[in-house]
Amino acid sequence: MKDKILEYFLKYVKIDTMSSEDTNTTPSTEKQYNLAEVLKEDLIELGLTDVEILPHCFVRGILKSNCNSLKKIGFIAHMDTIPGFSGTNVKPNIINNYNGEDIKLNGIELTSVQFPFLNDLVGKTLITTDGTTVLGADDKAGIADIMGMLYYYKQNPDIPHVNIHVEFTPDEEIGSGVLSFDVKDFNCDFAYTVDGGKPNEINYENFNAASATVIFNGLDIHPGSAKNQMKNASLIAMEFNSLLPVQERPEYTDNYDGFNHLCEMSGCVGNAKLEYIIRNHDRTLLEKQKNDFLNAKVFINNKYGENTCILNIKDSYKNMAELILENPECLNRARSRMQRLGLTPQESPIRGGTDGARLTFMGLPTPNLGTGGYNCHGPYELACLEEMELVAKVLIEIAKEY
Ligand SMILES: [Zn+2]
Repeated sequence: MKDKILEYFLKYVKIDTMSSEDTNTTPSTEKQYNLAEVLKEDLIELGLTDVEILPHCFVRGILKSNCNSLKKIGFIAHMDTIPGFSGTNVKPNIINNYNGEDIKLNGIELTSVQFPFLNDLVGKTLITTDGTTVLGADDKAGIADIMGMLYYYKQNPDIPHVNIHVEFTPDEEIGSGVLSFDVKDFNCDFAYTVDGGKPNEINYENFNAASATVIFNGLDIHPGSAKNQMKNASLIAMEFNSLLPVQERPEYTDNYDGFNHLCEMSGCVGNAKLEYIIRNHDRTLLEKQKNDFLNAKVFINNKYGENTCILNIKDSYKNMAELILENPECLNRARSRMQRLGLTPQESPIRGGTDGARLTFMGLPTPNLGTGGYNCHGPYELACLEEMELVAKVLIEIAKEY
């Protein structure tokens, strides 16, 4: 199975599937269809039925249960790579029996000082970039892991399994692909995204997310005659920001800490604008953070006059934990099947959002599982083949009926 997973993985990473933030279409780039076509052929060859490329570049297939199980479990991975760093002309570099030394690539170096997890991968097979592109293990490792599971069930037709529904999706990296996902038509009891992390990882807690746009209206007057008249919108914006708790900036937070992140500012004397994202795993604490923005607005308007500060807060996505814990079968199945393999499930909060979170709120409980990929979103990205094989074994266990 290991060789087969490697073969699939190398084939997929060489196909350029960079998504783009600049188009308003799904898929955001036509080239994602190039991988979709290959995946469709591979699913057919692996014996799946109902294989098709759906509108908006979703690839779907079903491996029907070979026992009397009526259970339908979904496995989802995304085809695109990030728009921010080149995924064109990927030349994967295979390191057999990794010796623990620094890895020198074109212009960059991976050291165990910078990446201590490398120490745990000594003796394993690593696949890195050549230093000039991403690898695309995010999330083609997830796709190859799922294919590994399907290959196993093709080779072992007597081992009973549930109905396995597979879907490969576009545009995860720009957050818009999943909006076209047809949960009802996918028709599963629950699903897993296989997207990043260690083989024993289960993620079902993500941020609750909101954004704030704050507009400041100043009064622009010739500075020579500004006394007691001028209201400098840029300075008022700076004052507004100073009213928010300093320790709640991203650079001071980790684990379950929430943050307010100033992502953009612009301004002159007459007007200014600040844009923030607001994040917390805990909904009550997120509300408190939103309240801090409100209080700052009130303070500014009391000091400088009504409508000096206009605050617009929008909720964007929610922590899926609430819904998953109401319906924990997906979680318990992953935990117990990992334990059967001798793994200790590691449940860590995601400091971001996931496609699974959106799917969960669309009615399909979807925690995330690891892939065996590391350092996503840059030239330091790598995958560990033995861990990918272990992920495939986790997926096989999850799909198995006893
Ligand atoms: Zn990903």
